Amino acid sequence: MGKHYDMVIIGSGVSGKAAASSLASSGKHVAIIEDDLWGGTCPNRGCDPKKVLVSAVEAKDQLQQLQGKGFNIVPDVNWPDLMAFKETFTSPVPEQSKESLESAGVETFYGKAAFIDHHSLKVNEEELTAEQFVIAAGARPSILDIEGKEHFLTSREFLSLKEMPETVTLVGGGYIAFEFAALANAAGADVHVIQHNDRPLKAFDQELVDLLMKQLEAKGVTFHLNVSISKIEAAGDGFSLTDDSDFQLNTDLVFCTTGRIPNTEALNLENAGVDYDKKGITVNEYLQTSNPAIFAIGDILSKSQPKLTPVCSFESSYVVSYLTGKTTDPIAYPSIPTMVFSGPKLAQIGVQATTDDDRYEVSAIDATKWFSYHRTNEPISKIKIVTDKDSGLLVGAACLNNEADELINYFSQLIEQKVSASEVADHIFAYPTIASDLSSIYS
Ligand SMILES: Cc1cc2nc3c(=O)[nH]c(=O)nc-3n(C[C@H](O)[C@H](O)[C@H](O)COP(=O)(O)OP(=O)(O)OC[C@H]3O[C@@H](n4cnc5c(N)ncnc54)[C@H](O)[C@@H]3O)c2cc1C
Repeated sequence: MGKHYDMVIIGSGVSGKAAASSLASSGKHVAIIEDDLWGGTCPNRGCDPKKVLVSAVEAKDQLQQLQGKGFNIVPDVNWPDLMAFKETFTSPVPEQSKESLESAGVETFYGKAAFIDHHSLKVNEEELTAEQFVIAAGARPSILDIEGKEHFLTSREFLSLKEMPETVTLVGGGYIAFEFAALANAAGADVHVIQHNDRPLKAFDQELVDLLMKQLEAKGVTFHLNVSISKIEAAGDGFSLTDDSDFQLNTDLVFCTTGRIPNTEALNLENAGVDYDKKGITVNEYLQTSNPAIFAIGDILSKSQPKLTPVCSFESSYVVSYLTGKTTDPIAYPSIPTMVFSGPKLAQIGVQATTDDDRYEVSAIDATKWFSYHRTNEPISKIKIVTDKDSGLLVGAACLNNEADELINYFSQLIEQKVSASEVADHIFAYPTIASDLSSIYS
């Protein structure tokens, strides 16, 4: 008979770590299991290190835009120095994460968790039983199943690259590919993005995606659309990529950026009676799995919501409220902003601006010459807003410019708090700022 807990959590990422600490603070006897880096994807190999590197794209773009307007040179990005700066953020994360869990009273286990039956699991040689479990085991990069797939690198290696090679190829046109394309391009690489159809970033406003691609092309990124790579072969110091037709490309490094797959296999979910599909673990509206004593949160879920850090945090705090009896309501997600931290940045929230539904009015604004963007000579600033015709309220927005990551949060607040255009007009914002444009955008 092994150790017994009120609650065992699998995975110490954004979802699991917060849930474990909160449940321990509420008086529960909690254990958490991690088989890799404490703290999980976001602070070690995801959002945070990526955004540190994105600072280089932002700085370089601004200097490029201000050529002849106070600046005459655009310095090269020193990738090893930038990477060393990134390491100052990532290196302390595993130890700090583990310490913060332990100081919250959570018992930590290092190893791979696998269920034995409905109430117990094994980690290394130890058996743990619990009243309830929360699975927060996340996802990992998927790898295209093609000849030579062992040559693929993933986002993990990209975010730790010691040197930026001359040529970088990204296979798969999702948000991570666009972000890495902008990064590698800023660092001086010849960048290629290969997409199997003609719709990269398919969940985003396609007009804005086309404009983003044009901006990246103008900087030297090459997009190969409707190309399905079928083979990777070593060629000299690099690789040759081919499809079943006449496409051929030589590259120093090739990254698979086709998405992420849930870490379901190793958990032996069948033993615990937990159902899952290829997108992840299936849950009801209380995030409860087919085994009522087992809950699941974060990227391991099979869900329609985007798999992003703030969504994980939201699910984590919901499940804590549910498990501690603070709520009996089903989970109700607010509008979720989605981002591409490229150069420029693309952001979107709520109802898609391209909708032709009679209920909505779409307004497309070219803000390129507006003071906020002209001041830094941005090449493009496009904003779309969607309002509900009956109420006049904002229900969706999309934007493409260097400030999109901040602007989208204002839209998020206006949508969620149902703020009317006249209430925005009555508000005094500091001027000149991105926020002080709001009443001109939403009027
Ligand atoms: C390159 C990249 C960039 C991203 N950028 C953004 C961004 O800008 N904004 C944003 O919101 N989101 C971003 N994301 C997504 C975000 O990182 C994830 O949504 C989030 O980190 C998922 O958290 P999680 O807790 O569900 O899973 P994770 O953080 O992946 O944690 C799961 C943990 O469980 C462990 N585990 C798995 N199986 C087992 C097992 N059997 N036993 C024990 N432990 C196990 C894993 O090792 C892992 O540490 C990015 C992701 C990547 C890869």
